[in-house]
Amino acid sequence: MKIRDILNKDTATISFEVFPPKKSTDFGNVEAAALGIAALQPAYMSVTYGAGGSTKGHTIALAGEIQKQHNVPTVAHLTCVCADRSSIGAALTEMQAAGIENILALRGDIPKDFDGEVFTDFTHASDLVRFIKESGDFCVGGACYPEVHPDSANKNADIQGLKAKVDAGCEYLTTQMFFDNNIFFNFMYRVREAGITVPIIPGIMPITRGVQVKNAVKLSGCNVPERFKNIVDRFGDNPEAMKQAGIAYATDQIIDLLANGVKHIHVYSMNKPDVAAGIQRNLSEILKA
Ligand code: FAD
Repeated sequence: MKIRDILNKDTATISFEVFPPKKSTDFGNVEAAALGIAALQPAYMSVTYGAGGSTKGHTIALAGEIQKQHNVPTVAHLTCVCADRSSIGAALTEMQAAGIENILALRGDIPKDFDGEVFTDFTHASDLVRFIKESGDFCVGGACYPEVHPDSANKNADIQGLKAKVDAGCEYLTTQMFFDNNIFFNFMYRVREAGITVPIIPGIMPITRGVQVKNAVKLSGCNVPERFKNIVDRFGDNPEAMKQAGIAYATDQIIDLLANGVKHIHVYSMNKPDVAAGIQRNLSEILKA
């Protein structure tokens, strides 16, 4: 099933992201976690793609297994830095063969230590979106950044880059994580004002370990509200308390989004079935309302 058809329905949904292992020896553990999350029957799942295509085989295998074993439509992420038309074409053929019909098209982060050409056939995610749409019957999504992508000169340039991606055929957008919903609501205002009408799905990261906050901020540059800092300061050293508080904070964010008219939520599960289950349980009646 195509993600656009899920997003077009008039029901609220929750979906989960998982990431593949870097090493083949870890595949079994990661697969077990991902299948545990798929057993919760979310609306769909997504599987990330390692920097520069390093996890291609694992991404495709994991996405294929989730669909086969739990019948949950799954999005495979795909990045185009350090790739050319021929390697991307080969990845698309493999995805088609594995029954994957949904792709999140990304530029990817520019690697610091790569020897070859970083940009050959693709400079922006919009180039990849166009190529995928020309290559087969895929539903294509993309990424967006409520707090502005670090490569963008300013908020306007960021929205123009996003518009180029949507004009190229991107059918929906998933946001970078954020911990303050007002940032998302302001972003939505700018996006809609620019004439971007595709569904925008907020990406929510439940922080269940104190150390995760530092990593999240380092990776995404997102703002951490005082209220959330206090939770980490108070409970960060107590794993069970922090897990409960992190699930509660993410639940609270999601309820506020749903109450303000958002219909679809993507949760960065960090491959943790108990965290995914905790959030889903907290929302069981809310999603039906
Ligand atoms: P782009 O959309 O190309 O944007 C990058 C910069 O270029 C922005 O400043 C943008 O404004 C500008 N730009 C875009 N198009 C144009 C244009 N046509 N003309 C001029 N400027 C333009 N990384 C991974 O390696 N693997 C993953 O699986 C992965 N999954 C992700 C999932 C989500 C939901 C998000 C939010 C990010 C994910 N990332 C992933 C990280 C992402 O690859 C990086 O943030 C990367 O730096 C940018 O990718 P992008 O697709 O957003 O790039």
